[in-house]
Amino acid sequence: MKAAVVNQACNGVEVVEKDIPQVGSGQALVEVEYCGVCHTDLHVAAGDYGKQPGRVLGHEGIGIVKEIAPDVTSLKVGDRVSIAWLYQSCGHCEYCNSGRETLCRTVKNAGYTVDGGMAEYCVVEADYAVKVPANLDPAQASSITCAGVTTYKATKVAGVRPGQWIAMYGAGGLGNLAVQYAAKVFGARVIAVDINDDKLQLAKEVGAEVVINSAKEDVVARIKEITDGGSHCAIVTAVSKVAFNNAVDSVRAGGRVVAVGLPVETMDLSIPRTVLDGIEVVGSLVGTRQDLAEAFDFGARGLVVPVVQTRALDEVGDIFQEMHDGKIQGRMVLDMKKCCKH
Ligand SMILES: [Zn+2]
Ligand SMILES: [Zn+2]
Repeated sequence: MKAAVVNQACNGVEVVEKDIPQVGSGQALVEVEYCGVCHTDLHVAAGDYGKQPGRVLGHEGIGIVKEIAPDVTSLKVGDRVSIAWLYQSCGHCEYCNSGRETLCRTVKNAGYTVDGGMAEYCVVEADYAVKVPANLDPAQASSITCAGVTTYKATKVAGVRPGQWIAMYGAGGLGNLAVQYAAKVFGARVIAVDINDDKLQLAKEVGAEVVINSAKEDVVARIKEITDGGSHCAIVTAVSKVAFNNAVDSVRAGGRVVAVGLPVETMDLSIPRTVLDGIEVVGSLVGTRQDLAEAFDFGARGLVVPVVQTRALDEVGDIFQEMHDGKIQGRMVLDMKKCCKH
């Protein structure tokens, strides 16, 4: 089979020929249909999280179960399932036992610590593969598997209630989905903030009530004015320290800031502001299997529609370069049928 792997120098991606993996106890073999390309894949390929030469990339995979191990009861042949960043957790630690399995200290991650979905076939842990609803487009499902569940979970963590204001810092692939979940699932009033007018226009089209270009306007002052004192919460998907600081400064007293973007920097958190205004700052990492099932369901019901573009597996190197250069709108999804010979 063809697979996109981390090259031997650990400074990029290459497409190679590999054997179809063997199914072990508790596992299923999935014929991959689609796999989204994510910024995290660029970091893994560059060795930023440790060198993984030869690792099959991809944690936004969707495919059809072709074979199950004899002991598997949660899946059957023909099911459409996800291959997500949360590949498997230990199942018995304090996090796994309290609905926070993404924080498990011995978690396995697809496309990083185990082979992922950028291949014609992939082995999954059956109990961790989430079923995709029949009426959800599989290319869109691939985007929900990472970007969708991450932003859905972050909006849950924000605790926004219907009619409350939420500010979304960053209106790219993640931010666009965050706007949709907040506006259409949670009934929130959404302010989208970015430095790119095209992305803000897209945010407006999918449900943002107000858009603010932070390169042209004083975003904190504008938000305080529009919301009469500050938004109730904010989600930061932007990879910029300035966005984090602005988010803290633009929530009202008692407001909550949810951190999702990962700039390798330190944010400025005023202690008096935090204490006297009761501000909460909390990180949110992807989502659990249950979060993903819920995120899929909202997609299947047409409430949330990821903007995706399909490309062939052989184009993965070009896509990584375009992503690195910031030239991509929406999500790039590899269509395995575009390159295979069957
Ligand atoms: Zn991802
Ligand atoms: Zn655990």
